[in-house]
Amino acid sequence: MALLKLKGVVQNYAWGGTEYIPNLIGEEVTGDKCAEYWMGAHDKAPATITSSGQKFNDYIAANSQDLLGKPVYDAFGKLPFLFKVLDVNDMLSIQVHPTKKEAVKGFAHENELGIPLSAPHRNYKDDNHKPEIMVALGEFWLLHGFKPEANLIATLSETPELSQLVEVFKTSGYKGLYQLVMEESADETNQVLKPLIDRVLPLYKEGALDKSSPDYWAAKAYLTFCPEGDLDKGIYSVYFFNIVKVNAGEAVFQDAGVPHAYMEGQNMELMANSDNVLRGGLTPKHVDVPELLKHVAFEETIPNILNGDAQPDGLERIYKSPAPDFELSKVSVQSGATYQSNADTVEVIIVLEGNVKATSGDELLDLTKGEVFSVSAGDSYKIAASDEAILYKAKCPVK
Ligand SMILES: [Zn+2]
Repeated sequence: MALLKLKGVVQNYAWGGTEYIPNLIGEEVTGDKCAEYWMGAHDKAPATITSSGQKFNDYIAANSQDLLGKPVYDAFGKLPFLFKVLDVNDMLSIQVHPTKKEAVKGFAHENELGIPLSAPHRNYKDDNHKPEIMVALGEFWLLHGFKPEANLIATLSETPELSQLVEVFKTSGYKGLYQLVMEESADETNQVLKPLIDRVLPLYKEGALDKSSPDYWAAKAYLTFCPEGDLDKGIYSVYFFNIVKVNAGEAVFQDAGVPHAYMEGQNMELMANSDNVLRGGLTPKHVDVPELLKHVAFEETIPNILNGDAQPDGLERIYKSPAPDFELSKVSVQSGATYQSNADTVEVIIVLEGNVKATSGDELLDLTKGEVFSVSAGDSYKIAASDEAILYKAKCPVK
């Protein structure tokens, strides 16, 4: 089969919204938190092939070369990416991902130590890196890398409770600053951040803060993660990192070492097939500070917002990234128009808006909003729209 219709899996994480994903995939809104919709072959939550009921990971295992294509099979042996829709209502944890080399080392080391894969203090769940690219589906907010020097100094100077950190930064740089707050005691953190929260929380509640201000996110983080008990050190990071607003159709790539956190909105996310996350706060989960500090890139980040490269057909925009594991593109098909492509390697495609007919040879799939399908390597296919359709496509750039 060239075309396989897939049913993904909803992940009910606490930070998710309740409506966006059920509305997208045509399911009832029950009030459950629906954070992510996984469209892949990850063993934890594989998609189902709707015609046969078979799990996509089992199908791939039995038809690897045919579905993936030889180059991808040789390079990865399995589907190298995981494709998701995210609905971020509450802020996610601050995190950083290891490089491939560090992931191989860390995974082997924790195996030697005999730390079970399911242990809460296990850092490395696999031996893979986890670069990520996201395209915003509407206004989307995230933290992304350390602010450039002058911006960071300005933010710290303007925030009375943090102004003493200006000297720390000037003398010991990004690493000295970050290490100081991450290694200080809970009491020390409370002493600094409690007055800050006491000052900004009333402003937040009055609606007097703008989302471009770290005060807004500090107050939101406080209410989400620590309305009682110790203040979460991640609140410092809201002041240290770039607050980035991305509009619909714009993308951000996060490579190993760049600290980041999704804060609000919906996006399409495509990542290497890995679970390796080192957390830096805004979470009740395990934070391993020494391990975290080994992987953070202590340097300024100037956010690079990608608009995608328009392709000659005028329908597709490709968001290029350095990741060898995946390539994300947006395909817009006007009513009556047809998109044509040849799948060099396996592709996974979601219809985000509109109604389309996908055909390959004599195979035909009728697809509507929220429906997902895969195309096997080596097969050419067409997508015809009966009304204005928007699709997002994941593939592997290996040829
Ligand atoms: Zn991440």
